[in-house]
Amino acid sequence: MAKETEVIKQKLELVEFLRGYLTLLPAGKNFKALCPFHGEKTPSFIVSPDRQMWHCFGCGVGGDIFKFIMLYEHLEFPEALKFLAERAGIQIQSLNPAQQREFGVLYDITDAAKRIYKEALSKNHEAQEYLKSRGLHLDTVEEFELGYAEGGESLTLGLLKEGYDIETIVRAGLAQKNTRGLYRDKFQERIMFPIANQVGKTVAFTGRILPSALERMRAQGMTMDLPKYLNSPDSLIFNKSKVLYGFDKSKQAIHEAKSVLLVEGQMDLLMAWQSGVKNAVAVSGTALTPNHLERLRRFADTVIVSFDNDEAGLKALERALDYFHSFDFHVKVIGLGSHKDPADACLADPEFLKKAIEWAKPAMQYVLDVYFMPTVYKKHDIPAQKRVLRHLLQKVQSLRSAVEQNIWIQEIAKRSGIREHALLEELSSLDVPRTVDGEETDFDSSSRPKEQTQGDLVARRLLALALTREGFLDILKTNSAFLPPAYQEMLAHPDSEAIGFLELEASYEFAGLDEAKLGKEFRDLLGRLESGVLRERKMILQERLKQAQSAHDDTKVAELLREFSELAKKIDILSK
Ligand SMILES: [Zn+2]
Repeated sequence: MAKETEVIKQKLELVEFLRGYLTLLPAGKNFKALCPFHGEKTPSFIVSPDRQMWHCFGCGVGGDIFKFIMLYEHLEFPEALKFLAERAGIQIQSLNPAQQREFGVLYDITDAAKRIYKEALSKNHEAQEYLKSRGLHLDTVEEFELGYAEGGESLTLGLLKEGYDIETIVRAGLAQKNTRGLYRDKFQERIMFPIANQVGKTVAFTGRILPSALERMRAQGMTMDLPKYLNSPDSLIFNKSKVLYGFDKSKQAIHEAKSVLLVEGQMDLLMAWQSGVKNAVAVSGTALTPNHLERLRRFADTVIVSFDNDEAGLKALERALDYFHSFDFHVKVIGLGSHKDPADACLADPEFLKKAIEWAKPAMQYVLDVYFMPTVYKKHDIPAQKRVLRHLLQKVQSLRSAVEQNIWIQEIAKRSGIREHALLEELSSLDVPRTVDGEETDFDSSSRPKEQTQGDLVARRLLALALTREGFLDILKTNSAFLPPAYQEMLAHPDSEAIGFLELEASYEFAGLDEAKLGKEFRDLLGRLESGVLRERKMILQERLKQAQSAHDDTKVAELLREFSELAKKIDILSK
């Protein structure tokens, strides 16, 4: 494999290749561009023709041509290798031929199944009527290539007839052996939603059982194994913790809107799409994972959530909130009124979602509204109130920004009548965020992303750079208060493994740069870190000032104003 990657790198000149994706401007012997991986107005994406490497100083990502295309097109390494080999016009030999064949076969058979399902839908009146009753138009059905699984052995037989062997059909998750040892189709009497990967290739299916089939099977006493929605099992080409339904079609719209509507089911997504909301994806019957969010974060700053309007939906939302916050997303929630889910709302009123998106509330406000309903936050029921407050404070704790925490503490104080400092005390007594209770999730602490905010990324690079020069390190130590706690900790333990690793990275990263450039970079990073921290302080001050003003506390106002102008001066100096 190593040989192929080298050949590809020789054939595809990085700068020329990137011109196909970005507008590159000369910057000394390097080039710069607006980073495609985070929103920015001044270029911090640097390309080095000498080293055939790129790096973004805004968000900290970087690497070679492979890393770029994996991030940009959301490909796994084998797919990226294939993609670039085609571009370079070379044959890949060392990609294990058996594995290469297996990829191809699975793509092909999934595609063949999609074709058979589509054809079956065109012939099945009941399935067509069902889709019509749910409000789907024919062009939506065609665009998303919905189909129908007749059941029995019809798909299996069709695929055998096309030359696929039974082992492959089973491996692709399309057939399974029943208790009597006979092969039967996995999907029986279901509407089939093909699931595509990021580049639009069909990799799996979700099947929604027809209501009449469900009734009949239940009447026959079959209640086991009869979920309303059934997903393909994971395979070489399908990893359900990575794929989001609709993403292949909506990613451009998400990128343009910088926001994404997140719904639970396929029907929700299709109805949203049909009513003109194109920047949407569905999690489709699986728990939200860091992989999903990482993918979305590159395209969007804001997530607008519209989950089912029931207790399970609220639970899913609250669970998701912690995740969103750890990725520093701005989160809003749509209230569905009396509709049970977004699909239902769109069916009743095709304009509903568009309006609802405009009126979406910040997630925390939505959660507070629910928990401060008189039926939940009961007057005179102190244990119940305590439970609610602790629960809400845990949500606040998961917020990354101190400013945001502050805003919501104030709001909780206002609604509960409990003084702010009592709430803050309670907040500080809470345990560090626990892992998510039970439930299928990849969100254990080890997979939780450790560097997401820009502040973290800047701090990491700054520390790495400081490790290359004694002088820098001394300066950083005297300014360590500006570092996020994790980096202060690292700075205080120079013998730790983390520092050792960072040192390695730094020697690679900064090798060959001249002293003047290193010095400038160091000052820039330090300045950015400091101004970020000061800006956050300024926002907190602004909040407090507003409060003091509305309380007509003149002495406090004067004191805060003094503080404020000092801070503003400091920020001003830094920005010069
Ligand atoms: Zn960037």
